[in-house]
Amino acid sequence: MLSDFKNLSERIEETKSLIAVYDQNTDSFSYHGDIVNYFKVPLKNEKLWDFLRANNIASSEDCDEIQAVCRSLNKENASYFGEYLFGGHCYHVISFVYADGKVTFSIKKVNVNCGENEKRDAVSGLLGRSYFCVNVNEIMRANPDKKYSVFFFDIIKFKAINDIFGFAEGDKVLAFIGEKLRSKKYPIPLACRESADRFAFLADVTEIDENRLIDALIGEVKRYELPFEIYLNVGVYKVQNKEEAGHVMLDKAMLAQSVIKGSYAQSINFFVDSLRDEMLSEQEITGAMNVALSEEQFIVYYQPQYNHSTGMIIGAEALVRWEHPYKGLISPARFIPIFEKNGFITKLDFYVFEKVAKFIKRSIDEKFSIVPISINFSKNDIFFPNFVESLENIRKKYDVPSKYLRIEITESVFIGNNNAVNEILEKLHAVGYVIEMDDFGSGYSSLNVLKDLEFDIIKLDMLFLQEKDENGRGGTILSSVVNMAKWLGIPVIAEGVETVSQADFLKSIGCDNIQGYLYSKPLPEKEYEALISASTIGALIPQMKLADKLNFANFWDPTSQETLIFSNFVGAAVIFSYDRVEREVEILRVNKKYLRELGMNLSEKDIIHGDPSASLDD
Ligand code: C2E
Ligand code: CA
Ligand code: CA
Repeated sequence: MLSDFKNLSERIEETKSLIAVYDQNTDSFSYHGDIVNYFKVPLKNEKLWDFLRANNIASSEDCDEIQAVCRSLNKENASYFGEYLFGGHCYHVISFVYADGKVTFSIKKVNVNCGENEKRDAVSGLLGRSYFCVNVNEIMRANPDKKYSVFFFDIIKFKAINDIFGFAEGDKVLAFIGEKLRSKKYPIPLACRESADRFAFLADVTEIDENRLIDALIGEVKRYELPFEIYLNVGVYKVQNKEEAGHVMLDKAMLAQSVIKGSYAQSINFFVDSLRDEMLSEQEITGAMNVALSEEQFIVYYQPQYNHSTGMIIGAEALVRWEHPYKGLISPARFIPIFEKNGFITKLDFYVFEKVAKFIKRSIDEKFSIVPISINFSKNDIFFPNFVESLENIRKKYDVPSKYLRIEITESVFIGNNNAVNEILEKLHAVGYVIEMDDFGSGYSSLNVLKDLEFDIIKLDMLFLQEKDENGRGGTILSSVVNMAKWLGIPVIAEGVETVSQADFLKSIGCDNIQGYLYSKPLPEKEYEALISASTIGALIPQMKLADKLNFANFWDPTSQETLIFSNFVGAAVIFSYDRVEREVEILRVNKKYLRELGMNLSEKDIIHGDPSASLDD
């Protein structure tokens, strides 16, 4: 094992790796051996993730992950292994090993030369990013007469595929795409899996135009057999200067893609120079943020949440805007990601929390209606030292009961470091806060998260339904998510609801709680105050609880007793939900025996998504 530090330091010379030790108790680092040269930047006693971030060596997400892993490893969960792309060139393998409150890790460069023998990705059969970046230039140099473009794409809501159909199905989708990119059908001399569900490729566009190529590729991908269509967002950089470094070209394609990321309406976007101007204004944002905070340029808007059955207001979400003195109202989508990168987000979120506490205090004093208000916290915030204590100080300053302040956290926090997160959630619960998981289904959520982490409300992203009729495939996904939440007894708030038919559909599958333009846009404080004063208010309706003899949550855990019983011992079995009002049955899961004996040659997927009466009798 690597945990023996002495053993490790002896290996430095041999492996040319960097060895570091993180002490969880003192939250500090020590570095050992001749390490100054490793990154070619002097490393002081700062935290590794701060160092990597400050020097632009690793992506912000990778830094977050490294930080989360360091803090979450423990006796039960004592090692972790990650591959990170540092400096946009080469992969570095980090192995983290926990022992006695300390996490020892070695960082080692792999495929320094990014040569031919870089290993292929086992899932997609494609090569990695570093190989791609180096070879892009070589191919272009060898074919000076041809025109090239660099493409980058990812799959909208890929994580939902993993969540709903399982990782094996997710891998199949990736393999399917890998196969298309490697096929000789397209003029694609080079392709790679950049990471997760992100792919890049170089295409010879001398004879085919980029739009046609993408249409053909997307058309093929859509034919992949899933109960819903796969959508891609593609960024394209038409290469102008073939001598530009490969990773710069890729960055340009990625930047173009980031503009349309998540949009079902636009599947392709081209890099233009003005996009780079936007990158510049990132510096302006960073330069102006502190003044903006002290001059109170950040304004809190409130978006009410309704019960669609009763029409009552049941809550609201606080959403920040920046009223810039010259540039006007700036959307949070523009500045929040920048603040998340540079750490300013924590200050801003506490600021918003304080503004909301102050508003509720005024509501109490002036005796107008009060519903709980949710405040967004970024993933970075909750690991802030004394996070809960700092919130409590603010809350107590305004003497507001904690039931009026809800903590909304984006789900990406909930990967990999469950223990550390649960510790914070428990602390929040202990002082009476309700915790919401934001954007369920959009990112890294998994059903395990629902059972492992103690949050109280799920916010469901309505993008699942976009461009789909409510009875179609998006609807199937939504209803299965709502069903699962029901199983676990967790209320759901659907957000981004824009039409009556969406809201009616949600109601029909048992989700009454709705936030979206249908009822109201986010409003400035005064307008929200007027609205709530003129409305009736109610409480969030708890999701119905199901029988609790068996622990239903455990059906999602493949190693649980319940799953074992279900899958192996009891003969043909089916789990279904029965809606007493609508008198409708929905099949949620069947076991193998059921398939064999009663399944009538249908697959599990067919049964779950088909008409229950086809396989169940009255
Ligand atoms: P979010 O937390 O998912 O907030 C919901 C977003 O959806 C808001 O965008 C809201 O205006 C928008 N929205 C509401 N109803 C509809 C609808 O019917 N249709 C559509 N298309 N959109 C709707 P907004 O205000 O631009 O905020 C964007 C994101 O910025 C938020 O997404 C949240 O992640 C972040 N954010 C906003 N305020 C804060 C804050 O104070 N702190 C932190 N950390 N993040 C914030
Ligand atoms: Ca939110
Ligand atoms: Ca949300």
